[in-house]
Amino acid sequence: MSECIWSCPVCGMPLHPAGKSLKCEKNHCFDRSRSGYVHLLPSSRQNAKLPGDNPEMVRARRNFLSKGYYAHLMETVCRAVQQYLPEQGVLLDAGCGEGYYTNAVRQSLADAAVYGVDISKTAADLAARADKGTDYAVGSVFHLPVQSESCDLVMSIFAPYCGEEFQRVLKKGGCFLMVIPAAKHLWELKTAVYDIPYENAVKDYALEGFTFTEKLTASREITLHDPQEIADLFSMTPYAYRTGAKERERLAALQTLTTQAAFEILVYHKTL
Ligand SMILES: [Zn+2]
Repeated sequence: MSECIWSCPVCGMPLHPAGKSLKCEKNHCFDRSRSGYVHLLPSSRQNAKLPGDNPEMVRARRNFLSKGYYAHLMETVCRAVQQYLPEQGVLLDAGCGEGYYTNAVRQSLADAAVYGVDISKTAADLAARADKGTDYAVGSVFHLPVQSESCDLVMSIFAPYCGEEFQRVLKKGGCFLMVIPAAKHLWELKTAVYDIPYENAVKDYALEGFTFTEKLTASREITLHDPQEIADLFSMTPYAYRTGAKERERLAALQTLTTQAAFEILVYHKTL
């Protein structure tokens, strides 16, 4: 990768490779880690010692995804990107986690430049170790360290949404792809744990600054036979933050679980 889309988190100028580092015109310099990612999150934006998902959550997610339970989603995302990303296009995975989808998408493309950014250092490190063909950075989705109008496609898979930033980094007419849980995603897991389970809210698809193009779905039933896998899955969900002792007991008692893994893949284009 001779050039790159990264921009300096201090002054906003483009970064250029300089040996194993990246430098801007003003000589702000950012070294690559041993695994290969570059840290582009200014200390002023680091609120906690470990922003984003903590190492335990990152490992739980990696363990779960490595078993292939969400392979149907991964394959649907790959097909969508193949359809919408131009040959030799530039793709940014905004909130890429440990790169499960990023890596798969890159491998499905012949000639694209693929970048991943995540606020968690643990996640970016795991991603960079496993995937030498993608350029990974630690950075915030809300202040992407990415040059304006440098990307043909931005994807956001269960990651925070920042419309202004996604529009800024997309080229004119660029594509935005977002994955959200379908209404009944993990329904059986919720009914096993909660007294009153709720379906995921289905929101209006309209996004300011984007034109809705199409909705794809990826849905199948998955069966987990291991309490650890069930715990890993649960820790990936937003409910993990707001679950009491009674629910945790029910969760721990589950030996097997058959549940729906149902997703919506929403495709948009940047409005002129
Ligand atoms: Zn700079």
